[in-house]
Amino acid sequence: MSNCDSCGSKGKCSSGEAGCSKAFPKYGNIKKIIGVISGKGGVGKSTVTGILAVQLQKAGYKVGILDADITGPSMPRFFGINEKRAQIIQAEGQEEFKFVPVQTELGIKVMSLNLLIENEDEPVIWRGPVITGVLEQMYRDAAWEEIDYLLIDMPPGTGDVALTVMQKIPVDGMVVVSTPQDMVSMIVKKVVIMAEKMKANVLGVVENMSYVKCGKCGEKMRVFSKKSAEEQAQYLGLPLLAEMPINLDLVESLENGSAEQYVNDNPEYESLINSFMKQLG
Ligand code: ADP
Repeated sequence: MSNCDSCGSKGKCSSGEAGCSKAFPKYGNIKKIIGVISGKGGVGKSTVTGILAVQLQKAGYKVGILDADITGPSMPRFFGINEKRAQIIQAEGQEEFKFVPVQTELGIKVMSLNLLIENEDEPVIWRGPVITGVLEQMYRDAAWEEIDYLLIDMPPGTGDVALTVMQKIPVDGMVVVSTPQDMVSMIVKKVVIMAEKMKANVLGVVENMSYVKCGKCGEKMRVFSKKSAEEQAQYLGLPLLAEMPINLDLVESLENGSAEQYVNDNPEYESLINSFMKQLG
């Protein structure tokens, strides 16, 4: 079942030698689970999840994504797989059914509610317990098989789903995403404090939409804040993992379904994986 050696809460949780306090083990052959969180919607949490996944896959790891943003799933769109649907299979001689995650062009395995419902624009109008039940099922019943890094794109805020992930899933590390605005940082700090209260291993913060790069001289202009990214990270009490520019080419690639290729080809995004690996240890 669970192996404490690979758990971010090893030595910090109350279960000790008595066994794992998390409800679910790491299924199949999942090695590390990373949650990507932000207190607020629209700061680029899903975009950063996609970028980190592509960089890890490019570095030779086997990567999976669990889209836990059940009411606002956007991972299928990032990878241009929104027209595909996850297959449901039953292994020979077994009673249970499994969802087969959809693979992206680079081979990243994605599991999202939007890959299970008929039309991607169909809303889910469910109460919290149903939503968390669906999340648990997508984690537990997906045929993940070999995964070095399973990234969980969390919904914004400190609600039911975030709580379920932190309490029940053996997450090894959390990456926080923020933007350089005091009002955003204040809300993001709530999720950081929540993660710390839940004894999660918070690796650091990615500041998204940090700056715009001048197309002529290359100067980096901070359009949202006069404070530096380091100052914003200090306020959150976290190491700064990376600064991501506002990038219209990225937006265009997201809109035409080629973001995976764009990020794969763009060396600007490589710094994120280095600091991520350093913090994860
Ligand atoms: P969240 O998951 O936090 O709700 P998303 O990743 O869905 O946020 O991003 C919200 C919007 O901002 C999307 O339309 C996305 O294309 C855009 N966006 C995110 N990061 C950037 C960036 N660095 N440059 C330009 N647009 C961005």
